[in-house]
Amino acid sequence: MKLAPARELLDAAVSGGYALGAFNFSNLEFLQAIVEAAGDTDTPVILATSEGAVKYAGLDNIVALARAAAARCPVPLCLHLDHGQNMDLIRACIAAGYTSVMIDASDLPFTENVEKTAAVVRLARPRGVSVEAELGRLVGIEDSVRVEERDAVLVDPAEAGEFVRRTGVDSLAPAVGTAHGAFKFKGDPRLDLARLEQVREATRGLPLVLHGASSVPTEVLKACRAAGVELPGAKGVPADQLRAAVRAGVAKVNTDTDLRLTFLAAVRSTIVGRPGEFDPRRYLGPGRDAVQALVRERIRFLRRAS
Ligand SMILES: [Zn+2]
Repeated sequence: MKLAPARELLDAAVSGGYALGAFNFSNLEFLQAIVEAAGDTDTPVILATSEGAVKYAGLDNIVALARAAAARCPVPLCLHLDHGQNMDLIRACIAAGYTSVMIDASDLPFTENVEKTAAVVRLARPRGVSVEAELGRLVGIEDSVRVEERDAVLVDPAEAGEFVRRTGVDSLAPAVGTAHGAFKFKGDPRLDLARLEQVREATRGLPLVLHGASSVPTEVLKACRAAGVELPGAKGVPADQLRAAVRAGVAKVNTDTDLRLTFLAAVRSTIVGRPGEFDPRRYLGPGRDAVQALVRERIRFLRRAS
């Protein structure tokens, strides 16, 4: 199968009543783990690479790996640029064979975000490449945060409607209280689900995307701790809030941190437990297996969530 545009997979997910998983990779082991999990669950996935991942692995390597994986995989895969900011890189990804790009101009004022996003849509659309954009700022929101502070960083639903009309994007990542990384929240995690519903209404059912959606599960933290990883205060989005977000209109859920933690715990415990081991396949392999099991669980959760 050829790599598929994200919009195609998102529409299928929306009509199938589930949320699509997007998983980040920057090396062969993560890619294999994600693709195998997609096959295991018979569910399409989005293969996401950040600008940093492209720099690390090389654009040509990433595209070749993703194409080879798609050719073998029984379900459709999409190759997506996560948080694209550099227009030259976005152009290069589109030319090289990516089937989806995110333009993240959320740090710019609204009008400039609209202009930059619309410019990417003009580049991508003729090539059949999907475009995701972001509105608002991704910061963890706690119960104690004042309303004015929330409004300053979270997405404004009316603006979201205008943004989608003016840009023609295929999906939108609205800031509703999640943050990237393993330390999203100082207090209790809290997603603004009412705001999410308002955004869905204002954008007329456009597929919405949840970033910073790792759940940093207790089992993963336990495995990390057992392997000697120190992560005091690590906290993710709880499963019930994630489920509620999917019900409120989220069609794509991004996961990166959970994969990193899982991989690290498995590799580290292997290395520590077998001091004489120096064959990379023997200590990276367990990391790959652990990530595959996690992605499989995550996909199943997202299928059940709606
Ligand atoms: Zn993100």
